[in-house]
Amino acid sequence: MREKYDVIVVGGGPAGLLSAKALCDNGLTVAVIDRKTKLNILGRTCGQSLLPPNEYFFGNLFHYNEAGQKLCFPDVGLSVPYTGAVKNLYTWNMFSPGMKKMQFGGGESVGPAPIALSYDKEVMLKCMLDEIKSDQVDIFPDTEFTDMVFQGDCVMVQAGDQSFCGSYVVAADGTNSRVVEKLGYNTNRRRIANLYVKSCFVKGFNPSAGDSIITGIHFLENGPVYVFLLPRPEGGDWNFLVLTFEPSIDLDSAMVTVMKDSGFAPWFKEAETGREFAAVETIYSPVVKPFRNNVMITGDAGSCQELECLGAMISGWKAGLAMAGALKEQQLSMAPRAISGYEDWWLNTYIKQYDYQDYLSVFGIAYVFSKAEVVDYMFGLMAEPFPPTFNPYTAVKLLAQRMQGLFPKIMSERPDVLQLLAGNMSFFPSDLLSQTIKSA
Ligand SMILES: Cc1cc2nc3c(=O)[nH]c(=O)nc-3n(C[C@H](O)[C@H](O)[C@H](O)COP(=O)(O)OP(=O)(O)OC[C@H]3O[C@@H](n4cnc5c(N)ncnc54)[C@H](O)[C@@H]3O)c2cc1C
Repeated sequence: MREKYDVIVVGGGPAGLLSAKALCDNGLTVAVIDRKTKLNILGRTCGQSLLPPNEYFFGNLFHYNEAGQKLCFPDVGLSVPYTGAVKNLYTWNMFSPGMKKMQFGGGESVGPAPIALSYDKEVMLKCMLDEIKSDQVDIFPDTEFTDMVFQGDCVMVQAGDQSFCGSYVVAADGTNSRVVEKLGYNTNRRRIANLYVKSCFVKGFNPSAGDSIITGIHFLENGPVYVFLLPRPEGGDWNFLVLTFEPSIDLDSAMVTVMKDSGFAPWFKEAETGREFAAVETIYSPVVKPFRNNVMITGDAGSCQELECLGAMISGWKAGLAMAGALKEQQLSMAPRAISGYEDWWLNTYIKQYDYQDYLSVFGIAYVFSKAEVVDYMFGLMAEPFPPTFNPYTAVKLLAQRMQGLFPKIMSERPDVLQLLAGNMSFFPSDLLSQTIKSA
C-alpha cells in the first residue's frame, strides 16, 4: 500500500472500475477498496442485461463490437473489453396476473438493433479488473469502507482498522452507499421505499414467448410482486427475479408461488432452480450535487435506485476523468473546471433527463390499479405492440401516451377504473409508493 494515493475509489463495481481505468489511463495512482472477497463474483441480484443499445442513454449510443469483443461508448471515447457470450434480445413481453400481454418490439420483425443484450456481468467485471491491473492501481478486496476523516490535503478513508490516504475519493459503493450516508447527503434526499429482491438462475424454463425479456405482476395476499425473467447469454438458462416493496412478503415462498401457482406456472413445469442472489435497495431521490469535501459520487451511489449498468459505467468513467482533470489543474495551478464539468454533466444528463418519478412509475402500476382484474383489463386494452424498448423511462412515456388515447373507451366501459386512476394520479409515484406500501 502507498502512503498516499491520488484517488481512493470506494467500490469496485462497474462505476468504480471504470473510474479507476480513467485515472490509471491518466497516470494517476489509485486504490480500489471493495468489501467483496472477489470483485467479479456477484452475490447481489442483477438482471445482467445491457440496455438500451437502440437509444441514446446517458448521452451515449452504446453498442457491442462483436469482432473486437468490446463494449463501446463512442460518444465518450470509451471501450471496455468483454470476452463473454452475448445474446441479442429484441422483444419485451410484460404480463398481467391473468397473462394479458403488453409487448415492446418484436411483432413481425426483429428491428435493426436489439433492445437489450443479455451478457455475463461476472465476465465483464473480470475483464475490467484485468484491464486496470497495472502498477498504478492497487486493489483491496475484503476491505469495507467504514468512515472518512479529512486531514489537511488528505482524505483518510477508514476500512475497519485500515486507513488509506488520498487527495480525492470516488464514492462508487452502489445503492445504499455508506460514503454518501457519511457525507450527510441522505438528509437532503427524499426517502421513498425499500425494494427487496431475490433471484436465481433456472434451467428448463420454457416460455411460449421464446427468447424475450419477460416481466409481470403477480398479487399475493400481502401485496404485489414483480417478476422478471431474462434469458442467460448461453446454455439455455434463465435469470428469474422476484421484487417487492412489501417487507412482509417472504420472497422465497413468493418465488415458489410464481413457479407453481401463477400465470407463469406452465412455463416452469420442467424448471430446476440453481445459483441464488439477493438485493435490498433503499430508494431515495437522487443526489443532485455529486461533489463535496473532495469526494465525487458516481454510479448507483448517487442515483434513485439505479442507473442501470450502462449509466453506472458512463458516469464512473466521467467521474474518473474529472478527478484526473482536477489533479492536473492543481499541478498546473490552473483555475478549476474539471469537477464542475462533471457536476454539470450529472445535472444535465441524469437529473434533468431521467426523472426518477418516471422510473418509479413502472412499479406504480400495481399500486395505481391495485387489483389483478383491473390490471388484466388495462393490459387487455394495450395489446397492440409498442415500439421496441427496454428502457424504463421510454416505456413509461409510451404507456402514458397510449393511456391518454384510451380514456374515452375506459370512461364508457369501466368508469370505476378511471376513478381509481384519477384518485391516484394526483400523487407522484414516489408518494404513492411510500403511502401504499404495507408495513411489516
Ligand atoms: C434487481 C436488480 C436488477 C437489475 N437488473 C439490471 C439489468 O438487467 N441491467 C442493468 O444494466 N442494470 C441492472 N441493475 C442495476 C445494476 O446492477 C446497477 O445499476 C449497477 O451494478 C451499478 O453499478 P455501480 O458500480 O454503481 O454499483 P454496484 O454494482 O452496486 O457496485 C458497488 C460496489 O461497491 C461495493 N461496496 C458497497 N459497499 C461498500 C463498502 N461499504 N465498502 C467497500 N465496498 C463496498 C460492492 O461490493 C460493489 O462491488 C439491476 C439492479 C437490481 C437491484
